[in-house]
Amino acid sequence: MITVLRLGHRINRDKRITTHVALVARAFGADKILVDTKDKKIEETIHSVCERFGGNFEIETGVNGKKTLREWPGEIVHLTMYGAELDRVVKKINRNSDLLVVVGSEKIPGFVYELADFNVSVGNQPHSEVAALAVFLDRYNKGSWLNKKFDGKLQIVPSDKGKKVVSKE
Ligand code: SAM
Repeated sequence: MITVLRLGHRINRDKRITTHVALVARAFGADKILVDTKDKKIEETIHSVCERFGGNFEIETGVNGKKTLREWPGEIVHLTMYGAELDRVVKKINRNSDLLVVVGSEKIPGFVYELADFNVSVGNQPHSEVAALAVFLDRYNKGSWLNKKFDGKLQIVPSDKGKKVVSKE
């Protein structure tokens, strides 16, 4: 099971980017996202996507980030441009444990670096939590997310031109 923890979510400033973090988590193979600030709107948006496009992805907002990190039973990966090289570290992660992948927004408190089992960089340039999460999940699950079946009410048929959507309703 893969859970993403989004730290430092600010309701007005981060609503789009946190929504994108959640959508990437869902599409790229994670099972759940935890957001450290209560935000009903984001919960509704993600529930609506799951309702239409399927899957069992879960969202919980208003969680205590520090407590989650302290009590996490499996391994913790913190994505940060200061971390160790992705390709070297990804092989060391125990695939039998529940994985928590942490992404930030602005400044990350020092305890996150301490409590993480692995501080991992997706390159050492500053970019985005959305990009870092997508690349990490792709490398971690070796691209298998592309074949994941969501079995939703709406299914998009890949197409060279135009939009093909099959509705089960
Ligand atoms: N200044 C912040 C700090 O103290 O680390 C980083 C801000 S960055 C816009 C937001 C988040 O994007 C970071 O917390 C990290 O999770 C992710 N991120 C950005 N660049 C990254 C990189 N090169 N590798 C891994 N994660 C990255």
